[in-house]
Amino acid sequence: MERRLESYLLTPGPVTVAQDVKQQMMVDRSANSRTMIEMIAWIRSYLLEICNGTARYECVPLQGSATYAVEAVFQSLVPRGAGVLVIENGAYGTRMANLAEALGMRVTRLPFGLSPLPTGADVDAALRADPSIDYVSLCHVETSTGAQNPIEEIAEVTRAHGKKLIIDAVASFGGLPIDVEALAAEAVILSPNKCLEAVPGMGIVIVRRDVLESAKGRSGSPCLDLHDQWDFLQKNGFFRWTPPTHVLAALAHSLRAHKAEGGVAPRNARYRGHWTRLVTAMRARGFTTLLPDAANAPIVTSFHVLDHPHFSFEALFAALERRGVIIFPGNFPAVGTFRIGVMGDLQTADIDYIIASIDAALAEMDVPVAAGASA
Ligand SMILES: *Cc1c(COP(=O)(O)O)cnc(C)c1O
Repeated sequence: MERRLESYLLTPGPVTVAQDVKQQMMVDRSANSRTMIEMIAWIRSYLLEICNGTARYECVPLQGSATYAVEAVFQSLVPRGAGVLVIENGAYGTRMANLAEALGMRVTRLPFGLSPLPTGADVDAALRADPSIDYVSLCHVETSTGAQNPIEEIAEVTRAHGKKLIIDAVASFGGLPIDVEALAAEAVILSPNKCLEAVPGMGIVIVRRDVLESAKGRSGSPCLDLHDQWDFLQKNGFFRWTPPTHVLAALAHSLRAHKAEGGVAPRNARYRGHWTRLVTAMRARGFTTLLPDAANAPIVTSFHVLDHPHFSFEALFAALERRGVIIFPGNFPAVGTFRIGVMGDLQTADIDYIIASIDAALAEMDVPVAAGASA
């Protein structure tokens, strides 16, 4: 099995980035040059296009990681003291609830175990129980487990109650279909460094234009002020303050690759193919998944650690790292899991190299592979 890359970054962001995307960062660009203005315009229009947001939404990129954009959404769009229902079925839901609470919102947590998934009926019951809730917010894919929350049915219930919807689509945007019009979302948050296969350094918000227009002067943070950032972008075409020029160049190129691949559906099919190949191979080696397949997004999976005296996550991690394969610990120490992502610029042969590396690692640890594996 051939090793194609120096590193296979199978963490749930950042991810393996194509050479030609990284190559874009070898050029130094001015923050307000014609090419930079054109890149920013292309990025904003393409991101709106792939989520059906062109007619009524705006795309506002911000410096920072995706969490900065989540905070900018709560700062800029949600009035202090508003009631926010946060669906909490993993670490990123918890992060969102903590963040809204820190900003002075009335947060109602809707806690779930790691499985089964929250449903529209759960949200309906919570909204009936407390009519003073104004917003529903949740993750599309809860990256800490791999759970894919049913945003469509939750959006329907939210709209039926006349409430506003905020979606953290940081993990999924570009790799799973999202239709902001159909969801009637107020804001959707995304990242360049997950399914869009570019490098980290920005958080990006898709926000309904009328919502953004009414957000002038609300943010308590000048840096995380979506309205001000948008207003300046509209007038000038470039960022208020120094943008991550290299990140923008990489993202513009990775979005051209996304478009050339055919958009969201083919990318989703590629990830699903890799996910199925990996999970099938892992099961043949005795591993079990934390979630049932129907609840799992085809981009990252939590596996239980093997119950064998020679097995440890640390040893598996180290043996894989020596082969250039980087996996990720689980978020819930009590459960005993680790995570492997398949987002990123990977090919089928890369998945086979990763599986061969897992076999080599298990052999090194002297953990016998379950019968049926092709080792
Ligand atoms: C990666 C991720 C984030 C943001 O993480 P940053 O480290 O701030 O980029 C937020 N939500 C979800 C669901 C994610 O997967």
